[in-house]
Amino acid sequence: MGEEIFRDMEPFRIKMVEPIHLPSREDRERFLEEAGLNVFLIRGENILIDLLTDSGTGAMSDRQWAGLMMGDETYAGSRNFYNLEAAVRDILGFEYVLPCHQGRGAENVLHTALIKAGDVVPGNTHFDTTKAHIEHKKGRAIDCTIDEAADPYLDLPFKGNLDLKKLEDVYKQYGREKIPFTVVTATCNSGGGQPVSLENMRKVAELSGRYGIPVCLDGARFAENCYFIKKREKGMENMPIKDIARETAACFDMMTMSSKKDAIVNIGGFIATGSREIYDSVKNFGILFEGFVTYGGLAGRDLEAMARGLYEGIDEDYLTYRIGHVRYLGEKLRNMGMPVLWPPGGHAIYLDMKEFLPNIPQDQFPGMAFCAHLYLESGVRGVEIGTLLNGRDPDTGMNRPAKLELVRLTIPRRVYTHRHLDYVAKAVKKVWDMRDSIRGLELTEEPPVLRHFTARFKWVE
Ligand SMILES: *Cc1c(COP(=O)(O)O)cnc(C)c1O
Repeated sequence: MGEEIFRDMEPFRIKMVEPIHLPSREDRERFLEEAGLNVFLIRGENILIDLLTDSGTGAMSDRQWAGLMMGDETYAGSRNFYNLEAAVRDILGFEYVLPCHQGRGAENVLHTALIKAGDVVPGNTHFDTTKAHIEHKKGRAIDCTIDEAADPYLDLPFKGNLDLKKLEDVYKQYGREKIPFTVVTATCNSGGGQPVSLENMRKVAELSGRYGIPVCLDGARFAENCYFIKKREKGMENMPIKDIARETAACFDMMTMSSKKDAIVNIGGFIATGSREIYDSVKNFGILFEGFVTYGGLAGRDLEAMARGLYEGIDEDYLTYRIGHVRYLGEKLRNMGMPVLWPPGGHAIYLDMKEFLPNIPQDQFPGMAFCAHLYLESGVRGVEIGTLLNGRDPDTGMNRPAKLELVRLTIPRRVYTHRHLDYVAKAVKKVWDMRDSIRGLELTEEPPVLRHFTARFKWVE
């Protein structure tokens, strides 16, 4: 009975708190105006509840904080590096580990080593930094996600899966010469935080093996993906999360990790691989861009927090709480009649802007307009995952209208309570009730890469 009641309750006590407060309406209007209507540019201290990202925003545990005090700040061969390496070997089974300062640092190192101009990199809805790095190397990302993922309300267990037919078509068209690797993002962040099944990853591995194409796991949320596999995939319900992580990693030649997600640290990442050859080809770029191979742009203490966080991230009580907490917000919003992408993702709830603001055309960025109003009404910060994020087509220079025009409400790990989420739900409903009066946005400043971070806007007349 106790276990039944326990279910998705917070499996921790809180022993340090950080006050938050809501700026006045007048101040919120000013802050938004000063930010060029882009909530990315508002100072954190002026946000009440920050659902911009789950990246590096988690609360570390007492064990992780204690680990910070055990930092060995030796330039080469820090003890903490060996602890990290042991954790990665134990959980994921990869022999070689190259620390990097965060996920995109890992991508930069790996992509520099492997991608040449004219290459293509197939995958399932590449994350924005992944796609940007591929394009920076003059390569191209090709989306091979299953078609069902484009339906925001189709209730399927693994909407992050790759379409093997699409993938094989890419392999046939470009061949090994033009495809340095395929990337599988699990869970699939830009596709709604949706998981990829173990069966699908195994088939991708098998198919890619036949064509001699390596496969890379973008594993920022591998632990959340493992939990979904355990809960949703036939025959997996009794397998420990750690074993599922091993089985997952076994499908891949290499992995890039943003430890700011499932390793629950504020900064950190790594490349891991079982291949000496791949490790040797990336390690010199690691030294060039990130730092020596045993620290990769991080302090020893950061490596220690990461090593400890990797274990906390695969703890099943934690994952039950984590996935349940996110689902709680999703169910609440859905019960209020809000258009919520379904099923809920592992780290975030996504609102469908095509339903929410149907009168704002995609090139007037309905998601940005929503985020501006959500902040004005409540001090809550969400983030657009839509046409602004999608950027422009490198060949035509035109906006790429997003298949799914979304706003993401991203839940930091172990930071907000269920009551905070109740407030968020009410705030979204408030914007819903005034949606007919909301106008679109027009760009006034647009940076050439990753424009969503610093673009500025004005309201359309
Ligand atoms: C966050 C993220 C990255 C990039 O990692 P950073 O640590 O933010 O640089 C790459 N892929 C996915 C799926 C991510 O969620």
